[in-house]
Amino acid sequence: MQANPSPTATTPREIIDELRRLQNLDDEIREIRERRAARQEQLDKLRKVIVHLEREIDDKRGKLTEAEQWHRTKTLELTIERDRSTKSKGKLSGVTRSREYVAVNKELDAIRKNITKGEDEVEKLDKAIADFRAAITKEQEKLADWRAESDQVERENQAKLAAMDVKIAEVDVRRKVITDRLDRAIVRRYEKIAEARAGAGVVEVVAEACTGCNMSLQPRFVEMVLRASSLVQCPHCNRYLFGEAERATAAPLPQ
Ligand SMILES: [Zn+2]
Repeated sequence: MQANPSPTATTPREIIDELRRLQNLDDEIREIRERRAARQEQLDKLRKVIVHLEREIDDKRGKLTEAEQWHRTKTLELTIERDRSTKSKGKLSGVTRSREYVAVNKELDAIRKNITKGEDEVEKLDKAIADFRAAITKEQEKLADWRAESDQVERENQAKLAAMDVKIAEVDVRRKVITDRLDRAIVRRYEKIAEARAGAGVVEVVAEACTGCNMSLQPRFVEMVLRASSLVQCPHCNRYLFGEAERATAAPLPQ
């Protein structure tokens, strides 16, 4: 940055007045930036919800695939057992000796148990698959809603954020007019203080206290601020001070 060769605000009164204008513009810019950030944050939150839902759906799809694979395996096992059952039943009709009859019947019993067990498993998998499919459909609907909302916010943001940027640029031009009237060193000091003190580099003295840090000021110090014969900074928080006679010297509030 270049040093301002010819500041036009030279008396302490002029300087503090320009600094107050600067502070107002900076407050305006900060307020726009905060709104801008809030909009962006809202969109980021929506995007996070969407990513989370997408992951949940992926997870359920994985489980669905697994259940479908199990379903195929179990169905195949069931077919094999049913074939075995048919064969055993065929054997049974050709059996003549009782010992053999008992053995084949025992085998058939075991096969029947396997079939019942297999049918139960397939039935459970049928239900699990149906449940996963229903849950996925439901979440996909939710996802579509969130995506629509996110798209809408994004579209709105495009216009609104652009308008905010234009506004910030406008205020910046007005700010430049003011900083041109001031000595660069004073502007830099003000900016440093504002940065360190939550954006406030110039504050009013009210009821003998600095409204930046709320610390009480000596009456002779308040006088100095009111006289504006020099640029005064708060001895506690370093902020530039200005004051209007009645408000500055009003009786201090009981602590
Ligand atoms: Zn202070």
